[in-house]
Amino acid sequence: MPPLTATEQHELYDKLLGTKAELETLLADSSASSKIVDLDQPIGRLSRMDALQQQAMAKANRAGHQCRITLIDAALAAMKSGCYGECRRCEEPIGFSRLQVRPESPFCFDCQKESEKTL
Ligand SMILES: [Zn+2]
Repeated sequence: MPPLTATEQHELYDKLLGTKAELETLLADSSASSKIVDLDQPIGRLSRMDALQQQAMAKANRAGHQCRITLIDAALAAMKSGCYGECRRCEEPIGFSRLQVRPESPFCFDCQKESEKTL
């Protein structure tokens, strides 16, 4: 994989900021809507289970969003220190096409696959 050009890096920087803003909006929205579900309300057993399930899903989504924001912050910090786009495991360039899909990705494709195997 060739290292990133300045133009590519700039594009990914914009993408990182845009994705982060989107995720923050999603987090703000979901915290507002999770307050609406009041489990002490007598809403019947089925709708109660629905509400619980929805809350659990919202919680999982929120955790996922928060996790991505953490990765984005790390990527922005790496950009500042000039090591963005390098795989944190093998130090090879991650590649622009992969970063276009997931600009916050800290690993190249092979290392990502490797780390998913050991999880
Ligand atoms: Zn790697």
